[in-house]
Amino acid sequence: MSDVHSVAVFCGSRPGGNPAWMTGARDFGKALAGAGMRLVYGGGRTGMMGAVADGALAGGGTVLGVIPEFLKQLEVAHEGVSEMIVTDSMHSRKRRMFELADAFVCLPGGLGTFDETMEIITWRQLKLHDKPIVLVDLEGAYGPLVASIEGAIVQGFAPSWTRQLFEVTTDVAGTIERLKHLATARGGAVALL
Ligand code: AMP
Repeated sequence: MSDVHSVAVFCGSRPGGNPAWMTGARDFGKALAGAGMRLVYGGGRTGMMGAVADGALAGGGTVLGVIPEFLKQLEVAHEGVSEMIVTDSMHSRKRRMFELADAFVCLPGGLGTFDETMEIITWRQLKLHDKPIVLVDLEGAYGPLVASIEGAIVQGFAPSWTRQLFEVTTDVAGTIERLKHLATARGGAVALL
C-alpha cells in the first residue's frame, strides 16, 4: 500500500509540439485519479497543465489548483477543479504545492517546469525534504535536462548521488506503478523550508 496520496505535477502551460505529450498528460491525470491519488498542480487550463487536470477530473479524481493571483488571467485559471488556492506570489505557490504533496511528478514542459523540477531536486539535495521525485520522460522530453545533470556530475559540480534524488520513467503506467510503491519520508525533513 502506497504512502502517496497527493501528487504535485509540474508540466508545461503549452501543449508542446508532439501530440503524444498532451495525450500522456491527460492519460496520466486519469490514471492518477484511478489510483485514488489527489492531483495538486498549478491551476491553469491551458496546455499540459489543462490536460492533466482534465484527465484527473474525467477519471473522477480530486484536483487542487494552486495559482498566484497575477497569473489567474494570464495563464487562464481552470474553472472546473475541485478546489483552487490563490496565492499572493510565485514563491507562496511553490511552497503551498510543496506542502500539499507527498511526491512530485514532472511531465514535459518549458522553463517554468524546468525551474520547478530543478528546485524540488535541489531542495532534496540540500536535505530540506525527502519526498520522491519522478521525471516522466515521454518521447524523450527529459533527455536534455537529465543530460545537463549528468554533465554537472561529470564536471565535478554535483556529487554522483545526485542521480539518486530523482527517478526517470518513460510512460504513464510505469509512473503510476512507481507511485504506488514509493514510501514517503514520514515527518520528513521539511521544517527548514
Ligand atoms: P512552463 O513550463 O514555462 O509552461 O511553465 C509551467 C508552469 O510553471 C506555469 O504555471 C508557470 O507559471 C510556472 N512557472 C514559470 N516560471 C516559473 C518560475 N520561475 N518558478 C516557478 N514556476 C514558474
